[in-house]
Amino acid sequence: MPELPEVETVARQLEPELEGHAIEKLEVRDKRWSRPVRPATLGKKVDGRTILGLGRRGKYLLLSLDGDQTLVMHLRMTGNLVLVEPEGEIIDPSEGRILYQGERTTEEKHLRARFVLDDGREVWFTDPRRFGEAFLIDDAKLPERFSRLGVEPLSPEFTAEKLGEIAAGKKAPLKSFLLDQSGIAGVGNIYADEALFRAHLHPLSPAGSMKPEHWEALRDGVVAALEAGIDAGGSSIDDYRDGRGEKGRMQERFLVHTREGQPCPGDCDGIVERIVVSGRSTYFCPTCQVKLRKRPKRRKGRKHASVPDRD
Ligand SMILES: [Zn+2]
Repeated sequence: MPELPEVETVARQLEPELEGHAIEKLEVRDKRWSRPVRPATLGKKVDGRTILGLGRRGKYLLLSLDGDQTLVMHLRMTGNLVLVEPEGEIIDPSEGRILYQGERTTEEKHLRARFVLDDGREVWFTDPRRFGEAFLIDDAKLPERFSRLGVEPLSPEFTAEKLGEIAAGKKAPLKSFLLDQSGIAGVGNIYADEALFRAHLHPLSPAGSMKPEHWEALRDGVVAALEAGIDAGGSSIDDYRDGRGEKGRMQERFLVHTREGQPCPGDCDGIVERIVVSGRSTYFCPTCQVKLRKRPKRRKGRKHASVPDRD
């Protein structure tokens, strides 16, 4: 499932290719992609618009258009946004072989929407599971639309103190805490595991039990895990392909994710274990990832309490 590094990779690759080009036609081939707006209605609104940029917020792709509107797309589980050159070789990227005449590529079978650019190139939104979606919105309404989305982890606002603020009082395990998009935006199952390993924190530790040194370690772990993912062009465990249709390489560089039974890549003798947290496979080293205890509540009338009770 694409997370921040995968979406960021696509945006960085495609933005320079698309910027300044007009969309001659948007053909929406699956009504689920644009619902509740009808495919033809969305197509008509986008046709003829010039692309000003391709950005990202959380796991959303933001295709900025002239006329102060943005086409927001979410890849969900298996969506891909890929640039297709008109004279590209007819090789099926999934099969790695040249196709018979008239045979459709895997991409064509799963094509949900097709942008035809003014120079003949196309951008395809393919999606086998069909959970991907898109909507057009006025730029002025974007902040409100994303008001429940949390802090961008690669922005300067994502400090250790900010992380502590978000985690304060939360009993949820750290793994679930990282997956919650209203706290930190863009982290999913893979990078949550990688971040917790880097921070030496057990995925079942209650989020609110972190102390300032843990906020710092987790902030650093999240940033390092996401940057490693971007550096590797994302992870392709299943369907993810980058903006050029290529697989990412992060799956070869995972520290703990999908590494059950393998020796800990850190300095300890632990073996990576797999557990299920919030219904998601979670990989960690039980030896070097510390399980924090719930912080004991301060009792009334304790002699050494630093803040005296008011009543
Ligand atoms: Zn370890």
